[in-house]
Amino acid sequence: MSTAHAPVRCDVAVIGAGVVGAAIARALTQYRLDVVILEAGDDVGAGTSKANTAILHTGFDTKPGTLESRLVRRGYALLSAWGPTAGIPLERLGALLVAWDDDQLDRLPAIADNARATGYGGARPITPEDLRRFEPHLGPGALGALAIPDEAIVCPFTTPLAFATEAVMNGAMLRLASAVQRRAADHDGAHVLSTTSGVVHADWVVNAAGLASDTVDRLFGHDSFTVTPRRGELIVYDKLARPLVRHILLPVPTAHTKGVLVSPTVFGNVVLGPTADDIDDKHATGSTPAGLARLVAQGRKLVPALVGEEVTAVYVGLRAATEHADYQIRFHPGERYVCVGGIRSTGLTASMAIAEYVVEGLHDAGLRRELRDDYAHVRMPNIGEQGERPYQAAAAIAADPAYGEIVCHCERVTRGEIRDALASLVPARTLDGIRRRTRALLGRCQGFYCGATIAAALADASGCALADVLGVPAPDARRPRSS
Ligand SMILES: Cc1cc2nc3c(=O)[nH]c(=O)nc-3n(C[C@H](O)[C@H](O)[C@H](O)COP(=O)(O)OP(=O)(O)OC[C@H]3O[C@@H](n4cnc5c(N)ncnc54)[C@H](O)[C@@H]3O)c2cc1C
Repeated sequence: MSTAHAPVRCDVAVIGAGVVGAAIARALTQYRLDVVILEAGDDVGAGTSKANTAILHTGFDTKPGTLESRLVRRGYALLSAWGPTAGIPLERLGALLVAWDDDQLDRLPAIADNARATGYGGARPITPEDLRRFEPHLGPGALGALAIPDEAIVCPFTTPLAFATEAVMNGAMLRLASAVQRRAADHDGAHVLSTTSGVVHADWVVNAAGLASDTVDRLFGHDSFTVTPRRGELIVYDKLARPLVRHILLPVPTAHTKGVLVSPTVFGNVVLGPTADDIDDKHATGSTPAGLARLVAQGRKLVPALVGEEVTAVYVGLRAATEHADYQIRFHPGERYVCVGGIRSTGLTASMAIAEYVVEGLHDAGLRRELRDDYAHVRMPNIGEQGERPYQAAAAIAADPAYGEIVCHCERVTRGEIRDALASLVPARTLDGIRRRTRALLGRCQGFYCGATIAAALADASGCALADVLGVPAPDARRPRSS
């Protein structure tokens, strides 16, 4: 349920707190500006940003000369430099783009040329013998590969949370459960945004509404693109599968999709996916038997032993694809409005570069900028498998025994981390929010053992009834109707 707020006035309202909107809000707070982030959902990063493959792309396979190509390259550089300083788990494992037939093998030199044209010079051919040496569990029939040594994996959960937390640390107002429904102009030409939690007056507006960026754009009188959700289904394999894969294993991409890949995750699992199916429903985030069957068939070819491992979870993300082949970032200087739409399959990587580009564009359009001299920097708790976690940190446990008390045994999450997630600057308000801040409930038991304890902690912190936290209908609603 939304809380009604008194009307507020700000310099810039950012609509959408996915990885893109959160990055833009953070970039804006480096200046002396009043920034309000309006998010329809109940958390930061809970839309497409929580359900992707989590690759930090070098941009080697993007189309040279496009805005996407430029921003992916720049975003890679920015996030790989800033991420580790902000506590974002990131591992530069490198990728192998594997050719499985003669046609794909013939295309590898052109892909290496394309990489160079994007500005990435690191791609190099790999012989079948080296490929087998690097990836002993690869399926039979691989004819060769291109190595892309700089491709990396990154935490999809910590990244938007880090952006939003740093924005809030620097004065941004984050309003959750605040879907923008209407736009009007007030007497001095400022935007009046009617949201489900009240009215916001903003001199400038950034539309970073992801799958809804087209409908929000229409609220501002524009009609230049339509989002068609492109569903991607993924399978997460158990941590015992992790030794089977050393690199990100990429297929040769097509014009439609980057294709199904196999990749380690920063949590120590292995992910297989995503599919790419255009659908009508922007809310269809359920998996399908056909999609999962296709993935398993592909996985059996790529890394046969993988599909024999236990599945920890499946998930689905919807890319904001449009009829255009590039990002739809459109500045409307006279209207003091920018639309940041069509950020389809590379937005996690490009987020910081998109933010930089948008803030530059707003400045060119007339937004006054004065750098702050008191900017505060975020340091997020580490949830990656490579860095030290609280349960491993003797000094942290000695100082605060809650870090020595494991609640989620699958992912080794402590009571101290759950407590911190509930009390952080951008606190978890749902079980999913705790999952994305701590990894609790994400493991092989999916909360079977720890779910009740964690739900009780959430109920306690939020003052909600346990049934509400669990989404269980009230007793009356559950009672069967008498005939
Ligand atoms: C299957 C899949 C795999 C991918 N793999 C990768 C990858 O490996 N690497 C990579 O870089 N990228 C990848 N991506 C792309 C990346 O996930 C997206 O580009 C990115 O998450 C888009 O972020 P966003 O902020 O634009 O959208 P979102 O995360 O969807 O955020 C938009 C937000 O706007 C809010 N909103 C909508 N309407 C309103 C409204 N009216 N008022 C207020 N708020 C509103 C929504 O609730 C949502 O939270 C992948 C995507 C998918 C689906």
